[in-house]
Amino acid sequence: AEQLLERMKAEGDQTEADVFISADAGNLWKVKDAGLFQNVTTPTLQEKVPEHLRDPDGAFWGFTKRARIIVYRKDAVRPEEVATMDALGTARFRNQIVMRSSSNVYQLSTLAARIERLGAENARAWAAAVRGNFAHDPQGSDTDQIKAVAAGEAQASVCNHYYYFRMVRSEDPADRAVVEKVGFVFPDQAGAGTHINISGGGVTAHAKRRDLGVQFLEYLVSDEAQTMLAPLNTEFPIRPEIAPAPDLAAAGPFKEENIPLDALGRHQAEAARIFEEVGWS
Ligand code: FE
Repeated sequence: AEQLLERMKAEGDQTEADVFISADAGNLWKVKDAGLFQNVTTPTLQEKVPEHLRDPDGAFWGFTKRARIIVYRKDAVRPEEVATMDALGTARFRNQIVMRSSSNVYQLSTLAARIERLGAENARAWAAAVRGNFAHDPQGSDTDQIKAVAAGEAQASVCNHYYYFRMVRSEDPADRAVVEKVGFVFPDQAGAGTHINISGGGVTAHAKRRDLGVQFLEYLVSDEAQTMLAPLNTEFPIRPEIAPAPDLAAAGPFKEENIPLDALGRHQAEAARIFEEVGWS
């Protein structure tokens, strides 16, 4: 996403890009912030994309969504013990948490959402508590966190749901052996709901084929594309009335965090500052 953003900045009004697509509202917000999206609002998009899964100004629109889940080692942790993100910062998990680096946009968006809901002080206290429970310094991808938990380096971590399900679906028996040891929960079901994010896109500021760009965004939320996309990218359809892939459906419906999506961008710099202050590298 960053390379594409730099490229669009360099190309300016010479760009051939009519539509920009990326995972994570934090990435999409950066494009909006750089003035490289134009606001688009159509009855179809407004009807099909839930309000909390699109930019309030219409700069970008989600077409699938992802949940930030807690993964835990089944032989060491009961699911009730990791029912909330707060639990990861308690004494129960002293030296038992591994996490991805805070430079990753998923982490920035997760903390930005907390800043939006509960304020910066709360977010700092949570980040410091979780950081105090680290088994080792942040390293690796979301998938690596799952592997570290399975290997016994820690008892719990956080990842986007599709990394877990990719391993469940993997043709490689080694992946399935890893994920066999690991359970997951959608955190904060009794509270604010699980942090969610989107894969989405918008029409670029300098689009030469604006109407086709709009049509493409509308196509992405059509019955046909929604049914096709979700199993391919292992995410949830953006439209609640469209069934997810069977294994995701089996995980059951879950309560979603409900905040204005642009908050993930607005609080991104503060989230980065907090991570740095508490020593979450
Ligand atoms: Fe990802």
